[in-house]
Amino acid sequence: MVERTCEDCNASLEGRDPQAVFCKTCFAARQRRNRRDAYARWKAAHPGATRRARYTGTVGTEITCATPECGNRFIKRSGVHKFCDECRVANESYHDNVWNRAHPNRPFGPKVLALKAAA
Ligand SMILES: [Zn+2]
Ligand SMILES: [Zn+2]
Repeated sequence: MVERTCEDCNASLEGRDPQAVFCKTCFAARQRRNRRDAYARWKAAHPGATRRARYTGTVGTEITCATPECGNRFIKRSGVHKFCDECRVANESYHDNVWNRAHPNRPFGPKVLALKAAA
């Protein structure tokens, strides 16, 4: 078996689970960076909004649509209500699409499958 190393720092991945592409340190760093970037993008699209208001907020209060490009304000009707009516129907798979676009080099998915095929 070929020795696998971290894609970022070339540390040995011995002892990591077979799907791991990054060492523990780099994986955590990437998670942190991804989260921070996602928040920064959302923040830029929703000036003045707070993280707390992103998905939560109280039912009956006005919240901002969870679609970054949208920014519509609307009255929250239920606990999971976070898209405006325009976006709700159009964006059933919104999270998948955004996630896939934001993670072209994600450690899971095709890359892992390729690794498995090569093993
Ligand atoms: Zn590493
Ligand atoms: Zn919307």
